[in-house]
Amino acid sequence: MSAIYQRVAFIGLGLIASSMAHAIRRAGLAGHIVGTARSAETRQIAGEIGLVDTVTETAAEAVVGADLIVLCVPVGAMAEIAQEIAPFLDAGATVTDVGSVKQAVIDAVAPHLPDHANFIPGHPLAGTEHSGPRAGFAELFDNRWCILTPIDGNDSPELQRLISFWQGIGAHVDLMDPPHHDLVLAVTSHTPHLIAYTMVGVADDLRRVTDSEVIKYSAAGFRDFTRIAASDPTMWRDVFLTNKDATLEVLGRFTEELFALQRAIRTGDGALLHDYFSRTRAIRRGIIEAGQDTAAPDFGRAKR
Ligand code: NAP
Repeated sequence: MSAIYQRVAFIGLGLIASSMAHAIRRAGLAGHIVGTARSAETRQIAGEIGLVDTVTETAAEAVVGADLIVLCVPVGAMAEIAQEIAPFLDAGATVTDVGSVKQAVIDAVAPHLPDHANFIPGHPLAGTEHSGPRAGFAELFDNRWCILTPIDGNDSPELQRLISFWQGIGAHVDLMDPPHHDLVLAVTSHTPHLIAYTMVGVADDLRRVTDSEVIKYSAAGFRDFTRIAASDPTMWRDVFLTNKDATLEVLGRFTEELFALQRAIRTGDGALLHDYFSRTRAIRRGIIEAGQDTAAPDFGRAKR
């Protein structure tokens, strides 16, 4: 594939940026890749492993001459970065981001950017519990969704170019309104993470009662919770602080359902439990049929 952008600049060089950089190289989507990160340590690692072609000290330096700028920092850091890069953006440059919340990022970034830049917010629905410049791999976005939430209409050439770019990275692209994105993600990602954090916290509180048995006998369900609950604390703090309304709405419904199941257990209502679990099992089948997970037992993990 030929280059879609001549110079791509990453602000932040963690899991998402490093995975994008690998995927861009795999498909030859950029003439040159520049990157910067907050800490000297991350910048040094990025240089050592050749993650990008050029590492700069500052975000302002990174964006000079870039026709695509990708903001890959936690949602709470987006406003400060937008402010820093705004005076250095080329005319016609596209600024996008990968933040897990969309309306808050738009509110934080858009007011700072000059009219001569195009801001197209985005969110790839792919990740792992690992962080940092060494965590990335080219296949992370293959066959996964990337949601773009354009704010200047759905038919600009800049949007089409960014769609082609994400498709070249391996993703399917969908367009959504920012508030709708935030509600959907509160259901599919944000609230499940909060529940995982809570369950692992409860297990930790019970550790003294159970000795180290929680770890020793950790069953598949609990292991999955611990994997999710190992996700980056800064990123997830920012997700909940910035997607507050949608998360609280979903959490309210979750709590009601939990009380209903709690009551069914107390009253011995096996029919209710069976019907409920049958409905949820069908949702799992739907996810597998949509190609978003594997049907292999234990999520296809290697045998231990
Ligand atoms: P990550 O691996 O933790 O990397 C974060 C990067 O942002 C690092 O380079 C870090 O710099 C930099 N950074 C952190 N705080 C900063 C601040 N206050 N000012 C400037 N730079 C800062 O994170 P990630 O998983 O790639 O996530 C990046 C973005 O992608 C987040 O907005 C997240 O919501 C979104 N996202 C994540 C996932 C996921 O599963 N991880 C999935 C989809 C979208 P240093 O290395 O120098 O500390």
